Amino acid sequence: MNQQNAAVTPVSEKKSALEPRIYTRSEHNISRNQISSNALKVLYRLKNEGYDAYLVGGCVRDLLLGREPKDFDVATNASPEQVKQAFRNCRLIGRRFRLAHVFFGREIIEVATFRGPSEGVQDLQKKDQDGRLLRDNNYGTLEEDVVRRDFTVNALYYNIKDFSIVDYVGGMEDHRAGVMRLIGDPETRYREDPVRMIRLVRFAVKLSFSINPECEKPIFQLAELLANIPAARLQDETLKLFLSGYAVETFEMLRHYGLFAHLYPIAEQSLSNEENGFPKLLIARALENTDKRIAEGKSIAPFFLISTFLWDAVKKQAKLNVEAGLPESVGFQQAASQIISQQVKSTAFPKYIGMAMRDVWGLQVRFSNRGGTRAYRLLGHPKFRAAYDFMLLRVETGEEAPELATWWTEFQTVSEKEQKKMLDRLHKSSTGKRRRRRKPAVKKQQHD
Ligand code: ATP
Ligand code: MG
Repeated sequence: MNQQNAAVTPVSEKKSALEPRIYTRSEHNISRNQISSNALKVLYRLKNEGYDAYLVGGCVRDLLLGREPKDFDVATNASPEQVKQAFRNCRLIGRRFRLAHVFFGREIIEVATFRGPSEGVQDLQKKDQDGRLLRDNNYGTLEEDVVRRDFTVNALYYNIKDFSIVDYVGGMEDHRAGVMRLIGDPETRYREDPVRMIRLVRFAVKLSFSINPECEKPIFQLAELLANIPAARLQDETLKLFLSGYAVETFEMLRHYGLFAHLYPIAEQSLSNEENGFPKLLIARALENTDKRIAEGKSIAPFFLISTFLWDAVKKQAKLNVEAGLPESVGFQQAASQIISQQVKSTAFPKYIGMAMRDVWGLQVRFSNRGGTRAYRLLGHPKFRAAYDFMLLRVETGEEAPELATWWTEFQTVSEKEQKKMLDRLHKSSTGKRRRRRKPAVKKQQHD
């Protein structure tokens, strides 16, 4: 049987071995007016074309909690090609597993065909020596789709036919009890895809759910499997980790399970051999600020946090480079590049993040270098704001003098005339200092 035929076999014609628990509309709190109208359009269109269509995954989980989902994912027994035929505004994506994206302006509804196991089609679900799935492109039934999902609370299906929730894995009970539980044997599921370990932490923290003890145990031992995951695969998951509003808790839990060390080995090293508490304090403050900004509805630049993770290593590397004979600025720039290229071996990030980090680090030395028009030029730099925030953190943690922060905070807010006065005062005090410094040398000469 080829892929195409497998995909068009309607779910209802396959016999199910497991019995799902169906929660009727009156037994759950998901109402259609909480569902994006575009997602409803997709669900109804698929239903009217004779297919089965469900909302699934994070959106069902979040709707049950009364939260607004980030996005709406649909699962269906229609093949990607059939989905494409049903919608004009649809594009097929993905090589590892083909998905349909249905576009409505800025909103994309992702439609996935049920995935199945690969009995008889072994090379479609290859595993490596650790048990990790390498290739995975096989369509199946709803029941088969369920067991491939990660957690029970992520495997609830909202049926557009009768607005019920289909639950094969006890996800509804876990949801009500606030428990994160893997579907199937935890160790096997982590080995198949070690990213599930960090997803577990992300969801447990974000949802305030506890972790089932059987699912918790293997992590300590299996955390190192993350090292084999391609850096690009970790890009989105790691960015999501710290941008959900619970960065402090997420960081602590990742470190507790030994997962952080495999995502940010450079930062872990800084944290483990901290001499004076600086890196830890800097990172802790940055995590707190991230959460605070999200709570206040402010925007977050992901590069900022990562730049604090790596700062200690950049400074140390810069020192080595200077000791090896490079001029200070070159040594520093090279250190930034060296540390970034080391980091992207573990977790990739888009190029702009690397560039922004380089800017923020590079601008740090320019805060104390304010002569002539330098202060104005720094103020006009596109990354001034982030660099200033970074400098404030360095002041807070004792790495930089508080006067510097006070000066720059004032300089940004006062009028142009006042700014000029501030610079004049600075100029006078620095020339004054220079004169005082020269005096002893003159005296010394007289003695001789
Ligand atoms: P959110 O979008 O809020 O981060 P989500 O649950 O929607 O949470 P996604 O990464 O969007 O998370 O994945 C959608 C669904 O796909 C999940 O709910 C889960 O059922 C399934 N899934 C995602 N990643 C995996 C994985 N690594 N292993 C098994 N199932 C997965
Ligand atoms: Mg999602």
